[in-house]
Amino acid sequence: MSSVLDLARPDILQLQPYAHAAWDPSLERLHANEMPWRAQGDNSAAGLNRYPEPQPHDLVERMANLYDVPLARVLVGRGSDEAIDLLVRAFCRAGLDGVVITPPTFGFYKVAARIQGADVHEVPLLRPGFALDVPAVIEAGRRAKIVFLCSPNNPTGNLIDESAMLDVCRELATAALVCVDEAYLEFSGNPSLASRLDEYPNLVVLRTLSKAYALAGARLGTLIAREEIVELLKRIIPPYAIPASTVEAVLALTEAPQRAMAGARIATLLAERDGMAERLARMRVVAQVFPSAANFLLVECRDARAVLEAGKSVGLLVRDFSSAPGLTNCLRISVGTPEQNERLMAALERL
Ligand code: PMP
Repeated sequence: MSSVLDLARPDILQLQPYAHAAWDPSLERLHANEMPWRAQGDNSAAGLNRYPEPQPHDLVERMANLYDVPLARVLVGRGSDEAIDLLVRAFCRAGLDGVVITPPTFGFYKVAARIQGADVHEVPLLRPGFALDVPAVIEAGRRAKIVFLCSPNNPTGNLIDESAMLDVCRELATAALVCVDEAYLEFSGNPSLASRLDEYPNLVVLRTLSKAYALAGARLGTLIAREEIVELLKRIIPPYAIPASTVEAVLALTEAPQRAMAGARIATLLAERDGMAERLARMRVVAQVFPSAANFLLVECRDARAVLEAGKSVGLLVRDFSSAPGLTNCLRISVGTPEQNERLMAALERL
């Protein structure tokens, strides 16, 4: 195999990308059919009457710096959701190719694959502990184009063993991409696999500002992959994918003070999480609290419905996974503020 691009859809490799209006801030813009004036009250820096820069350089640079990876290995998109969608569309031919997922895991991998008409091969995580079934993933991966792994995994909260993920990468080097979704990595304290791209050309890493950086509403996800994959995905990402307001917000809110604040908040959140886990484990309504390396807890209840209702009765919503395969009676509780957590714990203790 000459390149990981041999895995991509041939028609996408041949695609003539959309030619968006040239980006040249040194010239005045009469080439993009924009209004020359701002909307009344538009106080944005760039002016929302103007299309944003495609793959904004300053933003890409900021993410490269945040995640400590080379600029050319970064693609920014509207959340990591967009990156998942782009990967499936670029690598899976409808009706012919497929992806591997390891349930219980984040639901959008499967949905993105189905939208594209790709097959979904499910290789369940192994109990106890929700570990990766490495031989089965490798075997399924040989018949697929992308293996989605999530570490820490949503909704189970556990980290996936790093050497197991790298074994999958190595064994599938010429067969499939291995996409490791690190949406919750900051809560784990573990290093990113993005530093291993030189050794594993088929590895793709996803990061997001939606969790640890408290910017879910800004919609900014980062795909980190070898240059050729980034260049391919740039050909199919919609022309002006990142709104100007997101660019401004993210540049303003990922400076050193916000990074320091994120670190402090993570520490507070982890202490809250561990306190909640202990308290939950002592409750009669709880059968089991799964260990978590993320900002949520998966809890197996004796009666999930009663726990859900108790939360609602004090104005708090938790996520019901009780009908998901392998997660009977399980709820996922996102760690909130100390006040919210206390309100929930007190309500459950009253059950
Ligand atoms: N990956 C995982 C594992 C997630 O849990 C989520 C959101 N819940 C996402 C990706 C999507 O995140 P976003 O699009 O906000 O970056």
